[in-house]
Amino acid sequence: MDKIKIYDLEVFANHGVFPEENVLGQKFVISLQMDVDTKMAGKTDCLDKSVNYGEVSRFVSDFMQRNTYKLLEAAAENLAQALLLEYPLVYGVNLEIKKPWAPVKFPLKTVSVEIYRRWHKAYVALGANMGNEKAFLDRAVSSLDGLKTCRVKKVADYIVTKPYGGVEQDDFLNSALELDTLLAPEELLMCLHEIEAEAGRQRTIHWGPRTLDLDILLYDDMVMDEPDLTIPHREMHLRDFVLRPMAQIAPYQIHPICKKTIKQLLAELTSD
Ligand code: ATP
Ligand code: CA
Ligand code: CA
Repeated sequence: MDKIKIYDLEVFANHGVFPEENVLGQKFVISLQMDVDTKMAGKTDCLDKSVNYGEVSRFVSDFMQRNTYKLLEAAAENLAQALLLEYPLVYGVNLEIKKPWAPVKFPLKTVSVEIYRRWHKAYVALGANMGNEKAFLDRAVSSLDGLKTCRVKKVADYIVTKPYGGVEQDDFLNSALELDTLLAPEELLMCLHEIEAEAGRQRTIHWGPRTLDLDILLYDDMVMDEPDLTIPHREMHLRDFVLRPMAQIAPYQIHPICKKTIKQLLAELTSD
């Protein structure tokens, strides 16, 4: 990945745990490395195709002066997020904030916090089989897209499917969507649960009727198995109503455990 780097930008600001620091202020020194595809800017010699490091320097300086955090960790976290939201061409950012005058009573050169944050790609399954199913799916898509840390990139056509898991109930309306997100998987799951709750979802019968069900299918090529969250979704490769919409928006996406594309998984499932 190409990078645009800014080294040692000095800003006088007020971050710190001690009240004196918040009043008197001190020097902060900031370095950032932005993941940017510079190829088009390189070919056309046109600034519109790239990220203006002068503008970024001003943005960073203003951000550091307008906000006051106790911790460098918080300053870095919030600044990284603000940069990723402000500059669409920046996929990821490595950010280091140094505090050379930190009041720690030891003769050190500087202290710093360095973090790397970036956009992630996630796929989410949508399902509903109570009330106005289409309206529930539509609202879920716009609620997710409405979060500043999420951008819905693709939505598969809604399909009518037969219920799964042996509970007698109405047909489902299913879909899947592709999302660019700054949220970690656990944070994304919390947002999905909130959107389900807003749709009046009650958790009663497992695999039973629901106004809205939102599951995380894939998150980058991550594999994780925690008590509350398994990625890839444990059954996605066995479900026609998941693989069909996925095959429409991400046919060549690879399932990181099966090591097969969505298209292959669907072909295997339907040939059984
Ligand atoms: P299934 O997960 O088999 O599709 P379901 O969607 O009906 O069943 P829910 O009652 O909606 O099940 O979810 C039960 C719990 O599953 C959630 O509270 C969540 O903690 C957990 N879970 C684990 N992995 C995932 C995932 N990838 N996406 C969403 N929820 C998950
Ligand atoms: Ca589900
Ligand atoms: Ca679910």
